[in-house]
Amino acid sequence: MSGAILPGAAIGVLGSGQLGRMFAIAARRMGYRVHTFSPDSDTPTGQVADVEIQAAYDDLDAVAAFARQVAVVTFEFENVPAPTAAAAEKFAPVRPGGNVLHVTQHRLREKRFLDGAGFPVTPFRAVHSAADLTRALEELGYPAVLKTAGWGYDGKGQVRIDAPAAANSAWESIRTDEGILEAFVPFDCEVSVVAARGSDRSFVAYPAIENAHSRHILDISTCPAGISERLARAAGEIARGVLEALDVVGVLCVEFFVTKDGRLLINELAPRPHNSGHLTIDACTTSQFEQQLRSICGLPLGSTELLRPAAMANLLGDLWEPGEPDWSSACAFPDVKLHLYGKLQARPGRKMGHLTALAAETALARERVLQARQALTFRRGESGQLPS
Ligand code: AMP
Repeated sequence: MSGAILPGAAIGVLGSGQLGRMFAIAARRMGYRVHTFSPDSDTPTGQVADVEIQAAYDDLDAVAAFARQVAVVTFEFENVPAPTAAAAEKFAPVRPGGNVLHVTQHRLREKRFLDGAGFPVTPFRAVHSAADLTRALEELGYPAVLKTAGWGYDGKGQVRIDAPAAANSAWESIRTDEGILEAFVPFDCEVSVVAARGSDRSFVAYPAIENAHSRHILDISTCPAGISERLARAAGEIARGVLEALDVVGVLCVEFFVTKDGRLLINELAPRPHNSGHLTIDACTTSQFEQQLRSICGLPLGSTELLRPAAMANLLGDLWEPGEPDWSSACAFPDVKLHLYGKLQARPGRKMGHLTALAAETALARERVLQARQALTFRRGESGQLPS
């Protein structure tokens, strides 16, 4: 492939969390060097990168110096400020491009873009004041979900409104002058499609993944999703359309609600590998992180084949509350893989790691990964289910 960025080259990652860490592990395995840039030190990505740069995102001289050292820049969270991406772009290609960041880091822009391009989305209204909110609630009805337009993730900055009396306090609680009200979707299930697109416009998608959330945070993902083949194919085609419409070079995840009458509605986009796709590391020929590497480097994309049904369970900081989890008990499940992100402090709701199980059937993989997570909280002297 002409113009490909080949092993030995350095890749720049804006951001330094677990997504960057798993990307760096994939990149280093394939012989690349990795530089990470974020305001923090000893980060999940920095611990496994060749170079960890600690500077503020608005230190554009530092961003320029970082971009000069690498062949391509990618990011591992979509809230990278636009001027940061623009400063990097002067010295190295940024993939996916600044336009993808611009659309996906703002819920209202994202919904308007998707709606305008004819993709199916949750009914929504822009909200800039309490009066707007009252009007929007009259139009969309109850229940509805009020979200901040920018900087939201994992359910942060969102509140459900069940009755008119709750509107004012909801508006005050999200503390913003730009919000989005969405109709509450009484969904049958939630699925995601992780997809990648190359600079030559090649496209691949992983099989649809089914996601269960707890407190608005992803809890369990299973693949293949328990939806019909027709719906899974349709989700893959919508994902293809979205990556093409945004001219993505890289990985992007489309999250869907599956309605009770069997329709797909896009909930949101993530212009990067996604938590639900972590099971691709152990369960697919090519992980979503290797796919990100291949796409941003202009290499041919890898196979997305699912080798076995799989389930992933997130490990949140809450698990640390009674003390350090019992790692050896989870490792006693020989078919379960442990992934830890090297975060120095556990906090409730913080994503600290995940477990993946593969099995002959999705339901068995799910049961297995739940048993292994349960085993993490066993304390000496407690009885519990042992791996068999
Ligand atoms: P988000 O951060 O927007 O992805 O929201 C996190 C989770 O909250 C989603 O995965 C859903 O489980 C739930 N949620 C968000 N928006 C809605 C909605 N409009 N209707 C029903 N559930 C929602």
